[in-house]
Amino acid sequence: MVRIPFIAANWKMNKTVDQAMNFTEHFLPEVKDAADVDIVICAPYTLLVLLGAQFKDTNVDLGAQNMYWEEKGAYTGEIAPDMLTDIGCTYVILGHSERRTLFHESDEEVNCKVQVALQHGLKPIVCVGEDLTEREEGKTSEKVSRQVRAAFKDIDAKEVLNCVVAYEPIWAIGTGKSASPQDANAVIQSIRQNLADIYEHEIAGQIRILYGGSVKPENIASLMAFEDIDGALVGGASLDWEKFAALVENK
Ligand code: PEP
Repeated sequence: MVRIPFIAANWKMNKTVDQAMNFTEHFLPEVKDAADVDIVICAPYTLLVLLGAQFKDTNVDLGAQNMYWEEKGAYTGEIAPDMLTDIGCTYVILGHSERRTLFHESDEEVNCKVQVALQHGLKPIVCVGEDLTEREEGKTSEKVSRQVRAAFKDIDAKEVLNCVVAYEPIWAIGTGKSASPQDANAVIQSIRQNLADIYEHEIAGQIRILYGGSVKPENIASLMAFEDIDGALVGGASLDWEKFAALVENK
């Protein structure tokens, strides 16, 4: 089963309009001929309208970093799924560890968001990963398996094919300390096995599973050399257009 490499930027809470314009002015021409790779930029809400217009008819897709599960109404400060599709979002990151930790998102809430995103035609990038204590206590598989099972509860096989999973060990995010490609691949294999247990091997074999955590142009190729690592979710190194373009190039 051939899985097309997937390289996604998570800009987090970074970039003004001018900074984003400067990025795309250089980045879009630089990657316009990149073949056999899905490129996604998940930007802050304030930039999505602008980037949606810029990415139209390009090989770069737009993603949000979160959404709420309600359709509309009295939810001050929240963003609904239709608001995202309306302005050209294809993807939405759900369950990022920063959302889970800083904003107390539960497994159940992540599952609810995954269901609603799919109902509205958005493709979730579902993040899972263990913290340092869990890793040191040998609880990585247990944690990740629990998060995967919870996130995909009541999602059927046809729908799960529209999802991407990102394995992001929390201790590797923004620390400069990446998981070794061997370790990342082993956890990703266990995630694929979890998906095979829920669905079946044939389905699990089609789902892209990314690694995230201090990915840089210098280490992307060694990660992608492993069969089960289908791409990367990139924070810090995605903020610089040259680095992110190099990442796409070196994948
Ligand atoms: C992330 O936040 O999804 C991430 C992987 O960040 P970084 O690349 O900076 O470690």
